[in-house]
Amino acid sequence: MLDFIFGFFSHDLAIDLGTANTLVALRGKGIVVREPSVVARHKKTKKILAVGSEAKKMIGKTPASIEAIRPLRHGVISDFDATSAMLTYYIKQVHEKPQKLIPNIPRPKVIIGIPSGVTEVERRAVQEAALDAGARTAYLIEEPMAAAIGAGLPVQESKGSLIVDIGGGTTEMAVISIGGIVVNRSVRVAGDEMDQAIISFSRLKHSLLLGEQTAEDVKIAIGSAFQTDESPQTVVRGRDLETGLPKSIRLNSTEIREALADVVNQIISELKDVIEESPPEFIGDILEQGITLAGGGSLLRGIDKLMAQEVKIPVWRSEDPQTAVVRGALKLFEDDTLLQRVRVTGGLK
Ligand code: ADP
Ligand code: MG
Repeated sequence: MLDFIFGFFSHDLAIDLGTANTLVALRGKGIVVREPSVVARHKKTKKILAVGSEAKKMIGKTPASIEAIRPLRHGVISDFDATSAMLTYYIKQVHEKPQKLIPNIPRPKVIIGIPSGVTEVERRAVQEAALDAGARTAYLIEEPMAAAIGAGLPVQESKGSLIVDIGGGTTEMAVISIGGIVVNRSVRVAGDEMDQAIISFSRLKHSLLLGEQTAEDVKIAIGSAFQTDESPQTVVRGRDLETGLPKSIRLNSTEIREALADVVNQIISELKDVIEESPPEFIGDILEQGITLAGGGSLLRGIDKLMAQEVKIPVWRSEDPQTAVVRGALKLFEDDTLLQRVRVTGGLK
C-alpha cells in the first residue's frame, strides 16, 4: 500500500541522454520530455540561453556572441558544462513542479541511458550533475542495454540478443546475454553522417549548398536504403555555389538513396564485424531471434530490408524505435535485480 502511495507521488525519472535527442520519462506516467540535445549559450559569459528545441532553432543562425552546441554529438561528452546544464534543466523541470505542490516529496531516483563511448570520468561527471540537480540516486546504464530492454528482448536469458541502435552521432551495436554485454561496438556513423552525405551530394552534383536541417528534412522525407516501388521527390532551397544566390532544385529518392549508400554500407559492414566477433554459441540464437533495430536512424526506409539481405539474418525494427532507450530505462524501476545487474558501476557511487 505504502509503495502504491509513494508510486503515485513518485517522480522518479528515466533519461535518455542521446547524441541527437534527450528524452525524459516519469515513472508511472511515461514520456514527458522529448527535445533535441542542444544547448545555446553566450560565448563569453557561458550563460545558458536556451535548451532543447529553442536552442536547436538557433543552430547555424546564431550571432557571433551566441553558440548553439550539441555536447554529445560524437557519442562522447565534448562539452561537459553544456551536458550538465541540459541534464539539470530537465531534472529540475520535472522535479520542481510536484515539489511546489507537496514540499516533502522525496527527491527522485534517476536512471540515465548514456552512449557506451562515454569515458569513466565523463560518466562520473554525469552522475554528479544529476545529483547536483536534485536526484537522490543516479544510476547510469549503457544505451544498447537500455534499448534492448525497451525493445522487449530477453536480456536476462542465456540467449544472445543482437541490438543495433542507430542514433544521430553514433550507432551502437551489442550482443547481450544474461544481463551483460558480450560484444559491444560504438561507431560514429549514424544519422548525422547521412545528413552530411546529402550535403556533399547536393554540392557535387547540383552545386547547391544545403544547411544541416534541410539535409535532415530531405532524409526524413524521401531517404531510403532499399529500392521501393514509388520514387518520391522533394524540392529544396539552398545557395547556388556558382552565383552565390538562392536556388531551388528537385531531388528524387533514387539519387538520395545513392547519396546515402556509402553511410548505410559502413553501418552494415560494422554489423558484419560484430556478427563475426560474436561467440559461435550465440549465432543460432541471433538467427532465430533476428537482429533488432532501435534509434531514429533505423527509421530510414528499407534499412532493415537491406541489412537482412546483406547479413542473411532476419532484421526487425522495434516498435517506436526512438523511445526504446528511455522506455528500457523506465522499466528498470520495476525490476531492481535487473537494474543492479545492468547499471554501470566502474568509478561510480
Ligand atoms: P540519439 O539517440 O543519438 O539522440 P535518435 O535515436 O534520437 O538519436 O535518432 C536521431 C537520428 O534519427 C537523427 O539523425 C534523425 O535525423 C534520424 N531520424 C529521425 N527520424 C527519421 C526518419 N524517419 N528517417 C530517417 N532518419 C530519421
Ligand atoms: Mg539513442
